[in-house]
Amino acid sequence: MLGFRLSEEQESFRVAVRSFAEKELAPRVEELEAAERFPKDLFRQLGTLGYLGVGYPEEYGGSGGDMVMRCLLIEELARVNCGVAAALLAHVGLGCIPIFRFGTEEQKRRYLVPAVKGEKLGSFGLSEPNSGSDAASIRSTADRRGDHYVINGTKMFITNGNIADYCLVAAYTDRTRRGSGISMFIVDTDTPGFSVSRKLRKTGHHTSETAALTFEDMKVPASALLGGVEGGFKQVTGTLEGGRITHAARSVGVSQAALEAAVKYAKEREQFGQPIVKFQAIKFKLARMAMEVETARTTMWRAAWLFDQGYAMREAAMAKLFASEVAQRVTWEAVQVFGGYGYITEFPVERFWRDARLMTITEGTTEIQLTIIARELGL
Ligand SMILES: Cc1cc2nc3c(=O)[nH]c(=O)nc-3n(C[C@H](O)[C@H](O)[C@H](O)COP(=O)(O)OP(=O)(O)OC[C@H]3O[C@@H](n4cnc5c(N)ncnc54)[C@H](O)[C@@H]3O)c2cc1C
Repeated sequence: MLGFRLSEEQESFRVAVRSFAEKELAPRVEELEAAERFPKDLFRQLGTLGYLGVGYPEEYGGSGGDMVMRCLLIEELARVNCGVAAALLAHVGLGCIPIFRFGTEEQKRRYLVPAVKGEKLGSFGLSEPNSGSDAASIRSTADRRGDHYVINGTKMFITNGNIADYCLVAAYTDRTRRGSGISMFIVDTDTPGFSVSRKLRKTGHHTSETAALTFEDMKVPASALLGGVEGGFKQVTGTLEGGRITHAARSVGVSQAALEAAVKYAKEREQFGQPIVKFQAIKFKLARMAMEVETARTTMWRAAWLFDQGYAMREAAMAKLFASEVAQRVTWEAVQVFGGYGYITEFPVERFWRDARLMTITEGTTEIQLTIIARELGL
């Protein structure tokens, strides 16, 4: 039971990740942001330290721990750089959880173990140019031909798509069954027929690389079928609530960063002969921001705790939606506290604000989270 306090193990983990993020990531953020590049060496370092293995059992190279700890990892990384946290989430969450839950033993040994050690980077290819929220409308197909499948299609917005070692690809094996005819394949990105159409330039999250992909007569062995069963997509989508909770952790992390920066600046910046924090308008703004960040964090932790108990569909959607909207308000207000300097790229708050904008869109938009909550309420 969480008991509204982190356990000793969770707290010491949080302290260790914060220290890592501040020492190893913070000094490189500016350079990585400018280059729009994900630091693969840091990814390997995180694997060596066992951080990528949080939530996975030791037999697959994991380091144990629970969903609360995975949230702590993501929050602390996002506090320093939201893009890196996003790329890691696409890997440890979407790129690994389906293999852990539904993969064959051989798939777990071949992909999950090196993924958890930071030796292989994963990605998750579901979205397509004409298919986003309506995942069942994807057009990619996988046709069985003897002992292999031939995959054709295009994918859009794939995090790590251009730099990953493998991609979990969603494609129709049975076009007569909408949604349930979709299967998942684990595809090595050096497979002939797999190509990166282009790297996408984004408003924010510059350290997370995003790509459009093309599959042209891409021949994969039957053993690439996730779990060895066709139609496994519905199973996978039924487990996505974990990703929503860690997505909330990302929102909390960037909100926390904005809050800390705004508090510091408000104490230093003087106008009318005193620090601006002395003005009630600014003080109240900061108090409200702190309240929102804390409430989002509590909602996320409760969802994480419920997830570890077995079911958190409604709470995960609530945590994702709430934290992502808090991130909009808090980063927006942080820019306001900074005044003109908030709009200048030399200060990090403009980055927090740009990064936060994505949070209501990915891993299910706000409207889709509301649909899930309404469904869970029986509406
Ligand atoms: C930076 C980035 C990284 C991403 N990473 C990945 C990834 O790694 N893998 C992957 O597969 N995808 C990824 N995505 C895709 C992401 O999941 C989609 O953008 C998201 O699901 C929304 O789909 P869409 O953009 O096509 O919007 P649409 O689905 O076209 O939605 C447009 C608008 O209509 C609303 N809408 C749609 N349907 C309904 C409805 N039924 N009721 C009410 N409103 C509705 C939406 O909420 C939204 O406001 C990424 C996207 C971005 C921008």
